[in-house]
This record gives sequence, structure tokens and C-alpha cells, in this order.
Amino acid sequence: MAFVTRFAPSPTGPLHLGHAYSAILAHDMARAAGGRFLLRMEDTDLDRCKPEYDALIQEDLRWLGIGWDGPIHRQATQIAHYNTRLEALEDKDLLYPCSCTRSDIRAALSAPQEGVAFNVYPGTCRGRSMASRLPGDALRLDLDAALKVLVTADLLFDETGPAHPGTHRINPAEAQARIGDVVLSRKGEDIVAYFLASAFDDADQGVSHVIRGADLFDFTPIQVILQHLFGLPTPVYHHHHLIRDDQGKRLAKRDDARAIQKYRAEGATPADIRRMIGLPIP
Ligand code: GLU
Repeated sequence: MAFVTRFAPSPTGPLHLGHAYSAILAHDMARAAGGRFLLRMEDTDLDRCKPEYDALIQEDLRWLGIGWDGPIHRQATQIAHYNTRLEALEDKDLLYPCSCTRSDIRAALSAPQEGVAFNVYPGTCRGRSMASRLPGDALRLDLDAALKVLVTADLLFDETGPAHPGTHRINPAEAQARIGDVVLSRKGEDIVAYFLASAFDDADQGVSHVIRGADLFDFTPIQVILQHLFGLPTPVYHHHHLIRDDQGKRLAKRDDARAIQKYRAEGATPADIRRMIGLPIP
């Protein structure tokens, strides 16, 4: 199997040490395996993603010596296409419209943020028919119905990261308790859940290995369920440990103090960055 991996930042802030770790690790693993390393901008959150961060991320990666193969894939250009693909689940009666508040839905659609727990939906709108959908309603996956469709499927994924190595089988009861009826999109507003777009793209781009932070480990079961519902392959996952600050807190985009740009301005070299995050210098 050809080794294909990607770095998939959301351009909502500057590249900081935590992202640099993710990008360098994925890049080095691809190069060591003689494989491909792709760059994908997960820019579906049109309010928070900015072209200047997109440009800065590219500049910082180049400075770090991280070159990517092929053109950059930008998800914002594909939102209508993701929504069209979602119709396959509507045909299987696995979606329902939801009119819960706009901010709840926005929060549910974006990539996770430090300190924000995954909200399991209590099911307020479950049971509503697609015919009752109003403009601006979100579409939720009826997880119970989806798991019934997948009752004979082997819901498995292989994990090679340090914290949970091995093969993981998705337990339906646990998926209900921990994931619930996730929001997949909000039609008419051109918004789609990051984990749906990412699952489509990993399959379309032939990604064999998803290398990303441990904060996304809990999202993997929902992506595996979606892969089975859409007939997509499941890649191997590698969730790496997170780079934390001196207080043990995960670095976030707002931690501009740890921005690569700032280290560059202070005269650090790419080798210094690798040393700081504990990655070997080639
Ligand atoms: N776009 C996500 C983030 O910025 C990463 C998603 C992934 O690597 O699967 O955290």
C-alpha cells in the first residue's frame, strides 16, 4: 500500500509549535516511507478562516523545510459538493432536520477547541421528517438508525499512535453515549461539519495514514461510521501526543507566543524548532 498522509490545518490562526509538530511528524513519516505528503486547508468555517493565515501557514511550512506534494486542497471550494454527497444519507432516511440555535450548531460543526467538551445532542428534534425542514435547519445524523444499517459491518480502525495502539472496534452503545446525533451540515448556508469534509477528502485524496493530534482521537469513531455509510475506505490512524505549554495546557491558535512566526523573528532556525518539540533533525 502506498503511504499517503496529509497535514490539514484550519487557517484560523498562525502556525504554532503544536501544528509544527503535527506537520513535521507527518512529513517525516511520509518521506521515510517513500510516500506522499499532502497539504489540505480545512477552511470550511468561513467566519474564522482567513486567507492571511492560509498564506502564513504555507510560508512557515516552507521555512521549516516542509514541502508538500501536489496542489493545496481547499475545502471551502467543495462545500456544495460535500452537501450533494450527503444526500445519499437522506435517501437512506438517516438524517433529520434540527432547528436548535445557530451558535450551538456552529460550535458543533467546527474543529474541536481546547476545553470544549464534545456535546452529545439530547435528541430534541429527532423524529422530525425531512419534509418538515425549514430554511436554516441543520441536518443531523440519526445515529441509532445508522448503526442499525451497519449492524453487520466491522466498525474497526487501526491506530499506531503512542497512547492507544492497536485495532479499535467501535462499540454501538459507547458511540451513542459519546457521539450521539452529530450535526453534519446546515443546508442553504454552505456549512458542513469538519469531520465529514475531512472523511470525504481523506478517501478522495487516497490518504492511507491520518497523522494528527490526540485531541482528535475521540472523533475517529464518527469518521469510521461515516466511511462505512458512504462506502469509503478507513485509513490507518496515528494520533500523536500534544505539545503543551509550561503549565501543561494544550497549545491553541490564540497562543501567539508560540507562533512559528515569532520564533523566526527572534532568529530561531528550523533545527531549533525541531529540537524544541523533540523531533529529530534530518
Ligand atoms: N482541521 C483540523 C484541525 O485544525 C485537523 C483535522 C484532521 O487532521 O483530521 O485541528
